[in-house]
Amino acid sequence: KPYPIFVEGAVIKGFGRGSKQLGIPTANLPSDAVKLALTDIPIGVYYGWAQVDGGEVLPMVMSLGWNPFFKNKERSGEVHIIHQFRDDFYGQNLKIAILSYIRAEKDYENLEALVDDINMDIRVAEESLKRSAYTQIKTASFFN
Ligand code: ADP
Ligand code: MG
Repeated sequence: KPYPIFVEGAVIKGFGRGSKQLGIPTANLPSDAVKLALTDIPIGVYYGWAQVDGGEVLPMVMSLGWNPFFKNKERSGEVHIIHQFRDDFYGQNLKIAILSYIRAEKDYENLEALVDDINMDIRVAEESLKRSAYTQIKTASFFN
């Protein structure tokens, strides 16, 4: 499937695996949006742009993985927006443009190793998104 991949949906409650406590909250996409747009792409970590409720277009990293809530029969898309939000935005419309793949999903010995890798993903995303071909996509009509 060619990039960018555009996906949108109302943010749902996740499984509460404590991403917020780790300082890395992930806004969960509804499963129909994941099924519709993300069935043909590999599990792993991606980066791109995100927009909440028609606001500013911001950098994001997304994890596409297996959803324990559906006994790992369904995939989940979880988006960490690289921005400090004042409030939660459950139920609000989240639009994302997925631009590239960073890496496969991994199993971790401990939370520290997981957080280290996510922080690396965030740096990769921030650096890559500076490229002009990527900044142009912020103005795509999808984000209107
Ligand atoms: P859940 O298991 O319900 O997804 P999380 O701990 O992953 O809980 O927190 C996700 C929620 O945090 C999002 O749905 C959103 O409302 C809020 N949130 C606040 N800041 C961010 C951010 N920078 N990126 C993603 N979600 C955020
Ligand atoms: Mg989450």
